[in-house]
Amino acid sequence: MFKKISQFLDSLMLRDILVGMLITGRYLFKPKITIQYPEEKTPQSPRFRGLHALRRYENGEERCIGCKLCEAVCPAYAITIETAERDDGTRRTSRYDIDLTKCIFCGFCEEACPVDAIVETNIFEYFGEKRGDLYFTKDMLLAVGDRYEKDIAANRAADAPYR
Ligand code: SF4
Ligand code: SF4
Repeated sequence: MFKKISQFLDSLMLRDILVGMLITGRYLFKPKITIQYPEEKTPQSPRFRGLHALRRYENGEERCIGCKLCEAVCPAYAITIETAERDDGTRRTSRYDIDLTKCIFCGFCEEACPVDAIVETNIFEYFGEKRGDLYFTKDMLLAVGDRYEKDIAANRAADAPYR
């Protein structure tokens, strides 16, 4: 009974609105935490898991040795690899595709890679207008790696002491 009377008085005095206004008032003069994206951006961790890239060594040789560990560990079956032997007797991928519509950005592929070939960059501003646009082939992944190698290397170096 007392509870009902209390609820009636609360509704009569608009208590919920007053409490809400108090909270609004408390934050009115505090520094604003809203980020005006895309002009402003929040800091990113070097471990951020964004768009994938395939890396090369400094001499231009692709790092990937086609061991398929990344393909085996991928829980989303997003990676498809085919390998072939080159003229110099080394093994390289003849096909390396990632279907980003399947990928869950878990990072297992880059953790599994013994030569730091497949990595996830901190790029998250990309899109596809149709499903096929998010199917990344080896050439596309290498192109991402070539373009952002400096950032990728810096992020790996920043994270190295914690690995
Ligand atoms: S991040 Fe995870 S889901 Fe995506 S390709 Fe790598 S292993 Fe597969
Ligand atoms: S990216 Fe790494 S794990 Fe995947 S096939 Fe190439 S070398 Fe192996």
